[in-house]
Amino acid sequence: MRFGVLLAAVVLAVAAASAAHAEARPLTATDRALLARPATVEEQIGELVARRLTGHVVSVRCGAIGESDPNVLGVTPWGPSGPVDYFLMRPTECTYLSWFRQSPARWDPHTCGAADCARVPSIAMALAVVAHESYHILGYRNEAQVECYGLQSIWFVANKLGASVAEAQALGAFYATRMYPVRQMTTPRYWSVECRDGGRYDLRRTLARWPS
Ligand SMILES: [Zn+2]
Repeated sequence: MRFGVLLAAVVLAVAAASAAHAEARPLTATDRALLARPATVEEQIGELVARRLTGHVVSVRCGAIGESDPNVLGVTPWGPSGPVDYFLMRPTECTYLSWFRQSPARWDPHTCGAADCARVPSIAMALAVVAHESYHILGYRNEAQVECYGLQSIWFVANKLGASVAEAQALGAFYATRMYPVRQMTTPRYWSVECRDGGRYDLRRTLARWPS
């Protein structure tokens, strides 16, 4: 039953989201206005995780991302010389991060209650957006590569937000096995056959572990 709920939610979440997107555009006036205000607690969480993932001091804001396609959940603006250590997410993504941080165990794919299970794909997607945009901050632009690297860092984002290592790895595995494969059909630009254990985009090729 729980599995059925999860599967239905997965189809919805992935079909609706070509999550995470790099934009080759300079900072806009809207960006500047967002950056001028202090980061909310949720944005600070995103900044903390992105900083630990990238080693850069990263600004994160949730608000108008300057992208009309509602399926795009995050944007990393690029300046003339590359990313500008700043990314934006849609406000709903900050909401999911906040929910997750308040009670990580609630969203464990192995133990969630039915109503919460239906939201696990959205939660996993929010974690994935933070990881994905962080790899854009590092300068990667190939979406399939960025998505694959991000997928391998979902566990890290989840763990930094308070999940146990076991749950964090379960969320990474959930995304990799239930959500990522759908991309081959829905958003093929974000999918690669090399995104697998031992594949070209495996960040830890010497380890027989995937994806965490
Ligand atoms: Zn992207």
